Amino acid sequence: MTYRTELNQDIAHLGNVELLTPQPERSLWYFKDVLGMEEVHVQGGSVYLRGYGDYAASTLKLTAAPRAGVGCISWRAASPEALQRRAKAIDSTGLGLGWSDGDFGRGASYRFRDPDGHLMEIYYEETKYRAPDALRSTLKNLPQKYIGRGANVRRIDHLAVLARDVAANRTFMQKHLGFRLREQVLFENGQLELGSWLSTVPTHHQIAYVKDVKGASGRLHHFSLWVDNREDVLRAADILVENGIFIEAGPSKHNNSQGFYLYSYEPGGNRIEIYSGSFLVFAPDWEPVLWNEEERGTGVYWGAELPESFINYGTPDVTNAPSAPKSNIPVFDPY
Ligand code: FE
Repeated sequence: MTYRTELNQDIAHLGNVELLTPQPERSLWYFKDVLGMEEVHVQGGSVYLRGYGDYAASTLKLTAAPRAGVGCISWRAASPEALQRRAKAIDSTGLGLGWSDGDFGRGASYRFRDPDGHLMEIYYEETKYRAPDALRSTLKNLPQKYIGRGANVRRIDHLAVLARDVAANRTFMQKHLGFRLREQVLFENGQLELGSWLSTVPTHHQIAYVKDVKGASGRLHHFSLWVDNREDVLRAADILVENGIFIEAGPSKHNNSQGFYLYSYEPGGNRIEIYSGSFLVFAPDWEPVLWNEEERGTGVYWGAELPESFINYGTPDVTNAPSAPKSNIPVFDPY
């Protein structure tokens, strides 16, 4: 079950997430004015943004599209050699798409799809953010001025994607990209893998794979942005409501990951989490924490139960699509 990958440290961290939106102007307003991200570049149908604590030129790419969902998920490699090694390893799986010159702020990138079809890429060359005078912090080690606009998210943290076969995707990320398994939800005496949380850094997870109860592929459950403390999550809730944004769940605390969460829908339809708390993992021999039906409960440590939409809704929305067999739709909370 646990794939030993302790020697593979080729992936440094989650670098960039592209979100697709049918409401590009409204989505930009949400991330820029309501959440406090900074717009740094516009290219084609895309706007590039960043959190004030992100070191990279851009960490979120918003792209106009007919339907909401996740575009390319970009991982930074630890070195040029690491990039070549991972590209070679992925190429051998048949899931590779090949090289590109790279997106805004990044150098050569190797693109591929995970087994469920999510588009990903690995790159090494990164343009570090250089703040213009108006956005330069007086704190030398802060890449951008602390503006305090809206929810004022500091940085990107993680994403959760839906998959038809969680185990296949989890194994792919462990074996070919060196991800470490943090926690799992395993039902039916361990035979049904409903969710797996993985990371390459001490933060609890950078990606989670969760069973797609609709049986679709390539979908997003949520994208998560970090704030420094739980009070900031509560403040974000006030700001979201004042701006007419629908809050789906939280603020509450999960059992798995111990995350303090708040989920809303950005105007394009993607579920966005404002996140804090959680815990760091330093042990190189970390033993994944496994949760069965009884231990898992509803996935909420304390706070209100999660709504049905939290299990059934992802982007792109396939509400009218037939559901997977009933036995595959337990009450389950993918964050
Ligand atoms: Fe999350």
